[in-house]
Amino acid sequence: ESEKRMFAIKPMNCPGAIEIFKNRQRSYKDLPLRLAEFGHDVRNEPSGTLHGVMRIRGFVQDDAHIFCTEDQLGSEVAKFCKLLKKVYHDFGFDKLVVKFSTMPEDHVGDLATWERAEKQLSDACHEAGLEYEIQPGEGAFYGPKLEFKLYDCLGREWQCGTIQVDYQLPSAERLDATYIGADNQKHHPVMLHRAVLGSFERFLGILIENFAGAFPTWLAFEQVAVVPVSNEFDDYAKKVNDVLVAADIRSNVYLSEENMKAKIKDISQSHRTPYILVVGQKEKDEESVCVRYRFSSKKPQETMKLADFVKYVQDKVETHFIGI
Ligand SMILES: [Zn+2]
Repeated sequence: ESEKRMFAIKPMNCPGAIEIFKNRQRSYKDLPLRLAEFGHDVRNEPSGTLHGVMRIRGFVQDDAHIFCTEDQLGSEVAKFCKLLKKVYHDFGFDKLVVKFSTMPEDHVGDLATWERAEKQLSDACHEAGLEYEIQPGEGAFYGPKLEFKLYDCLGREWQCGTIQVDYQLPSAERLDATYIGADNQKHHPVMLHRAVLGSFERFLGILIENFAGAFPTWLAFEQVAVVPVSNEFDDYAKKVNDVLVAADIRSNVYLSEENMKAKIKDISQSHRTPYILVVGQKEKDEESVCVRYRFSSKKPQETMKLADFVKYVQDKVETHFIGI
């Protein structure tokens, strides 16, 4: 309680999305209505099951709820499947397994509706070029669902994305969400619950595991480290760093009394920085940089004009290149 009002913490975002939908009278012209949020949820998981960032009691879901008509169901699911494939591709996860959970024994709603919904889900998968495995009877009591599993570099399976068809929450018996149809009558929309990454915390954990901390350039928290061979070249190192930062590259300059070799070892081992730029007299004279690629990339070091290096990094970032 605070200032004579009761507050509560939420384990999911769905009822909130319905409240927003019901905030005013909706029309069929408003559909499909897609409400996205980074929803902060809290769940009282048993302490013994908590595990790093993989399972925590407070997390943020990349959640969305789509309100649509039954006719729009297929195209909305297909759009989502394409989005998910694109996002996973950007993170380097191209092997995907889709699990299709069908009507459980204990369900609400009539058989014909279930069959139509299941057909729309399977058509949507085909349209997005995704094959699936059926999990008979594993759907939620309110509708069928798709679950998307990805594989990390060690072949471990992670379930992240999901899309669920829900006829129940918007129904008159539950939260009673309605829209006015073309026939001027009230109808209940179909609700889709969907997340691409699942929870940000867990997905970040999966990424750290998958890349063993050696992130591709576009994801690395420090993309470039600039190291002068001696204090004499501090000014040129700072200038290089300024040029990189101005080009939206996450760069840091390391000026210290420590010897250069120890510095480079520390940066490459603890930061896993993709590129370490070593600069001295030759580089200063030529407006160039000596690029040392992260040890795991096995690329030999090379000297480049500073302007060319900027373009090189920008290209890796823009194309979400998985590598350095
Ligand atoms: Zn939901």
